[in-house]
Amino acid sequence: MKVELISVGTEILLGNIVNTNAAYLSEKCAGLGLSCYFQTVVGDNEERLTQALETAVGRSDIVILSGGLGPTEDDLTKETAAKVCGRPLYLHEPSREAIGNYFAGRGIEPTDNNWKQAMLPEGAIVLENHNGTAPGAIIETESARVILLPGPPNELYPMFEESVAPYLASLNSQVICSTTVKVCGVGESKAETMVKDLIDTQTNPTIATYAKTGEVHIRVTAGAEDKKCAGKLIKPVVKELKARFGNHVYTTDESVTLEKSVADLLLANDLTITCAESCTGGLLSARLVNVPGISEVYKFGMVTYSNKAKRRFLGVKKSTLQKHGAVSEKTAEEMAKGAALESKADVAVAITGIAGPEGGTPEKPVGLVYIACFVKGKTTVKKCQFSGNRGKIREAAVSSALTLTRSCVLEYFSKVTFGKKES
Ligand code: ATP
Ligand code: MG
Repeated sequence: MKVELISVGTEILLGNIVNTNAAYLSEKCAGLGLSCYFQTVVGDNEERLTQALETAVGRSDIVILSGGLGPTEDDLTKETAAKVCGRPLYLHEPSREAIGNYFAGRGIEPTDNNWKQAMLPEGAIVLENHNGTAPGAIIETESARVILLPGPPNELYPMFEESVAPYLASLNSQVICSTTVKVCGVGESKAETMVKDLIDTQTNPTIATYAKTGEVHIRVTAGAEDKKCAGKLIKPVVKELKARFGNHVYTTDESVTLEKSVADLLLANDLTITCAESCTGGLLSARLVNVPGISEVYKFGMVTYSNKAKRRFLGVKKSTLQKHGAVSEKTAEEMAKGAALESKADVAVAITGIAGPEGGTPEKPVGLVYIACFVKGKTTVKKCQFSGNRGKIREAAVSSALTLTRSCVLEYFSKVTFGKKES
């Protein structure tokens, strides 16, 4: 089954909004085992939308359109799709009622154009909208299935989950299952090289790599007659990936994030953590605090932006700052040690760097970040050189700090276990 996406909206063409619906829909379709070969963005223009839709219907089995289902003049997706598919619009009574109830519930008087949203293409499957007034629709024609979804993500996502995903899954006689192997501490190109042979020879399951900030996710997807059979196909590939990436695999659970894996590691080993941050300004603490239940291990963190704060709260030496500067291996190390001392935490992570856009020098360019991790007396410092803008550099620094924390804690415990075994 070939899927194609058409995102409708002049705002997207002008760059006023980012086409996150297309990213969402592509990822969801891939997860359902449907191949998405084309994505088009077209403005709110009947002629050009007709052209795009005719082309899509001619070459794809499923065409998903998003946007332009609203009540105004420039919302013309449904009208255009109805024309292209040769299905006149009619008043869909349940939708008219739902729209009436929607407005009554909010104590608002609907305007005349609101009723336009209850007009639907003849024979279409109507998709209820529980978060807005525009119903979605599926028009099944001989050449393709045309799916119309509202533009606002808070309406599109639930409509897709509730109605479209089950519909698409029912078209496939196969069950599609996938497992994501999440890897940290390995760059995207290295990760891809490490699995290239598997990707080159893949059929079922398929393997795809997705680069995230500071992480790579490798998704293994199999199609089979049932879940159990799909699982059997996936298992050996996941085993192979784990063998290749070793300790860099932090989870194969879709719901586990990098910060959650770090939090779980700390919880399991009864370790408390603190953060001392400079250029990331609390982002690392914020990532950790994303994890419910973190209060068991995270009690306190510091943002020490100025040199004075680094000295006063973390005990970084004046001579260190003078000799090496605030962005240096030595400062990062003293920050981590000072934070551990101050907080009495078992693990202390410190970040100091140049997030830019100003402040770089040839010796210390923008993107230079030192991350230090103290675990029960031993401090490891990592020098990183990130690229991108201020936001990207800060995010990358936080991901690297989580990765370093994970590896230092794992290393500490492997030594402890090893020592115990030996004695
Ligand atoms: P409305 O009833 O709000 O007019 P609609 O179905 O007509 O909904 P649009 O008018 O195309 O949708 O877009 C409404 C809003 O939805 C946009 O302003 C934007 O915030 C969001 N939106 C639309 N398309 C996309 C997209 N492709 N990606 C992300 N957001 C989008
Ligand atoms: Mg609109």
